[in-house]
Amino acid sequence: MAINREWHAINKMPRNATLDERVIWHIKHASNCDCREMPPSIKRELLARGLSVPAPRSLK
Ligand SMILES: [Zn+2]
Repeated sequence: MAINREWHAINKMPRNATLDERVIWHIKHASNCDCREMPPSIKRELLARGLSVPAPRSLK
């Protein structure tokens, strides 16, 4: 699992992030970094909103 330190440095997860913020963060994260998988709760939220779950970069 490679970490994109530069991206993380400028995209910090806000403290007490709302679900909206977490969902948006994870969508951006998935396309910029693959240090960790999107949590199942976020995947469920994406599907509930009719959004597609981005494939992990490492599998492309
Ligand atoms: Zn990352």
